[in-house]
Amino acid sequence: MLPLFEAFPQLWIRVPYISLGEFPTPYIKLESLAEELGLGELYIKQDGFSARPFGGNKVRKLEFLLGEVLRYGGRDVITFGYAGSNHALAVAIHAHRLGLKSISLLMPQPNAGYVRRNLLMALKAGAELHLYPNKAAMFAGAKKQKWLHFLKRGRKPFVIPPGGSTPAGVLGYVNAVFEWQKQLAQNKVELPDVVYVALGTAGTLVGLMIGFKVMGIPSKIVPVRVVNVDFMSQDMVVALFERSVDYLCEQATDFPRVTLDAKDLQIRDEFLGDGYALFTEAGMAAVKLLREKADIALDGTYTGKVFAALVHDARLGLLQNKRVCFWNTLNAFDVSCDVAGVDYHRLPQSLHYYFEEEVQPLDR
Ligand SMILES: *Cc1c(COP(=O)(O)O)cnc(C)c1O
Repeated sequence: MLPLFEAFPQLWIRVPYISLGEFPTPYIKLESLAEELGLGELYIKQDGFSARPFGGNKVRKLEFLLGEVLRYGGRDVITFGYAGSNHALAVAIHAHRLGLKSISLLMPQPNAGYVRRNLLMALKAGAELHLYPNKAAMFAGAKKQKWLHFLKRGRKPFVIPPGGSTPAGVLGYVNAVFEWQKQLAQNKVELPDVVYVALGTAGTLVGLMIGFKVMGIPSKIVPVRVVNVDFMSQDMVVALFERSVDYLCEQATDFPRVTLDAKDLQIRDEFLGDGYALFTEAGMAAVKLLREKADIALDGTYTGKVFAALVHDARLGLLQNKRVCFWNTLNAFDVSCDVAGVDYHRLPQSLHYYFEEEVQPLDR
């Protein structure tokens, strides 16, 4: 049984859930890199191994979100993202495994190799893909797509918001904390002093924050911004925290009504660079460092920027003798083989751009 459900049986009775992944994900210690960076200890929570053929942080959220779709008899799922969205791809793959049809409504982003791979992988999974020129057009497109699919299929499609960051999705990361705590206890590993994690649509961060509070874990969380502030502001993080706690307290009368202090939420903005999915020098240096020292693959959009923050703080001496955890949210499985024979011409014309234009300079 899920560690969260063991702790709160009322949630087990009431909350929709479907198992999609393999847990617990590995928690590994990197000794030589810790030494090189002058840390006390360095650990990585490897959520990339959460599911095959495509893991990463979205799987934990989708166990609850797709659980809802199944509980309410949904057949089609609409979701949103940038063109190379890991979330939209995770929905496509895991929805199709469950026999659901998925429709991804996408908007433009800077080009990169992973955008190509994710688009081809989504196509292979059988997703229907639509590209809109901007966010407003994408959400307007959602209304039209909902009706079109209702007329075609006789049921309204289920809508999963960007990143899967709803209160139900957040439960995936509240559970992750319970799972991790158990894993630490079993392996006699101490809690870290500080945890570095990406801030995108905030479901991962908010789930961790709620889990830490409920379990009384004193470790400090360092959220590293990887999306523009108009997409996810501090107020939006607070609002998602409150909505998620409300949801949990509605589902389980014994769930503690935890609250968020402003001092608990210090978002690090300085590693975003010029914007979402625009790779940075520091981010790519961090990607290279982890690949060379530990043979772990990070990316330029999310995890490279987070690890760059950790390296930056280490080099300033802020993490001396500290036990540090990097919560790795990136899918760990290479999908290049899966997409080797897939022809991009089968994608909607508007997406050919990503295959016919160069990737951004730092990705070459
Ligand atoms: C989506 C994503 C994130 C951001 O997680 P949120 O819960 O949206 O904040 C971080 N890393 C990777 C690799 C992702 O795909």
